[in-house]
Amino acid sequence: MKLQKATAAAAVALALSLTAVGCGSDGGGDTGADSDGKKITIGIKYDQPGIGLKTPDGNFTGFDVDVATYVARQLGYDPADIVWKEAKSADRETLLQRGDVDFIVASYSINDERKKKVDFAGPYLLAHQDVLVRADDDSITKPSDLNNKKLCSVTGSTSAQNVKTKLAPQAQLQEYGGYSECLTGLENKVIDAMTTDDSILAGYAAQDQFKGKFKLGGFKLSNENYGIGVRKGDTELKNKIDAALEKMVADGSWQKAVEANFGPAGYKNEPPPEIGVVVN
Ligand code: GLU
Repeated sequence: MKLQKATAAAAVALALSLTAVGCGSDGGGDTGADSDGKKITIGIKYDQPGIGLKTPDGNFTGFDVDVATYVARQLGYDPADIVWKEAKSADRETLLQRGDVDFIVASYSINDERKKKVDFAGPYLLAHQDVLVRADDDSITKPSDLNNKKLCSVTGSTSAQNVKTKLAPQAQLQEYGGYSECLTGLENKVIDAMTTDDSILAGYAAQDQFKGKFKLGGFKLSNENYGIGVRKGDTELKNKIDAALEKMVADGSWQKAVEANFGPAGYKNEPPPEIGVVVN
């Protein structure tokens, strides 16, 4: 199969240089070698520190990785049975529709448009859209300041959609393939601000190599209810994942994963969402 994986060299270099945040997951490798019995293929982000990150040594870390690993275990899969696959924002529905992944845990907001194509378990996290600007830039203090600015977001994300339809229709929106590419642009002053969920932006801002360089706006521009994407109509899997998420919250594993992955970035997360309840 293989979806297009072309990424700007700079972004690859950046993604590789990102250091891991939080505790490591004991997730398996990326090769999908199916040697001993059943495997499960899970879509995650590869370039979002604190959420879903492939580290230079080939490990996978982040809150989504920990949630996915917990859910997989409840479904009967050991970490070694997990095959991780990159799920970029614009590719998520297609990956599920083509059966390239079993489920997706990739900062994937539940919304009506996506629900036409896929189903969602959860939600398991409530985040909010925000902006990241250079630390010395005081020209963006409220959302409307984004109009006429060069704003970066990612193709296929709710963040890009929100900018176009309501937040700052006059902004010069650049849509890149991944957030790490936006970050490179922000650092190099090719763009003025990048926008996506505060959970993701906090992870970038906390990276050692970026300390003191960027700041979050703190705008809470939207509610982003992270769900676990499954194939449309796969109610059995959705129900099993919902049960796993309930258990993850009840036994304290959710809180542990939050602290391990968001703690280093100082991200103030919302309390665990109620399963089946999307906050609009
Ligand atoms: N949560 C938003 C979305 O699902 C933005 C983050 C992302 O692109 O993964 O579109």
